[in-house]
Amino acid sequence: MKDFLCPQCGAGLKFTTSYAVSTVCEYCRSLVVRHDLNIELLGKEAILQDDLNPLQIGTRGVFQKTGFVIIGGVRLNHHEGYWQEWFLQFNSPIQNSRYGWLAQAQGEYQFLFEPLELPVESASKYNVGSTVSVTDDVSKKLGTWTSSLLGDSSAFKIIDMRTAQMTHFVGQLPWAPDKDRKRTIAELASTDDAKLTIEFGGSKNYIYYGQVLNFEDFNFQNLKEVKGW
Ligand SMILES: [Zn+2]
Repeated sequence: MKDFLCPQCGAGLKFTTSYAVSTVCEYCRSLVVRHDLNIELLGKEAILQDDLNPLQIGTRGVFQKTGFVIIGGVRLNHHEGYWQEWFLQFNSPIQNSRYGWLAQAQGEYQFLFEPLELPVESASKYNVGSTVSVTDDVSKKLGTWTSSLLGDSSAFKIIDMRTAQMTHFVGQLPWAPDKDRKRTIAELASTDDAKLTIEFGGSKNYIYYGQVLNFEDFNFQNLKEVKGW
């Protein structure tokens, strides 16, 4: 992969996977986006004081016997608090996913596969209680993983819906970060309690699916030292 230098301070920028298109310079905290041949400066990132979180860039873990490493992260705020999503680079694809996410909220850890585009209408058409059908096309893409997840039912009910805004970025990410963009996130459950998340993103909507596990199940290495852990 082509090497890029930070346009602000000249330090080498790390892109460890072709799926990462943006990164925050480790030295001067500039936020940059990679294009084919050049690099674009988007702004400067504040340091996120997150002293109580043991996860960090470089933390390694395991899911379904395949290793992954945290290479980036984003914090999302909503009106009742925030959650953290970590961008994962896999050692090899997991269930056809080339990369994934680890969502961390209130002590819960959810492994998420690469999201799929979902052809649904805009968020304004839906409320808590609305039914969303997962089309055959999507359920085929979800593949073997979700035959167990979906069970017999392809209809999901929205159990929670909220608007979130990205407030902090760290490391590499698979898109160009945009703090002004608000996203509507819907949590869905099927009758047999399978869970899915839909991100309504304007022109494109994405479906996230995965598994909630205990902290210990990921066999994390290279954690940050946190007092009291
Ligand atoms: Zn820099």
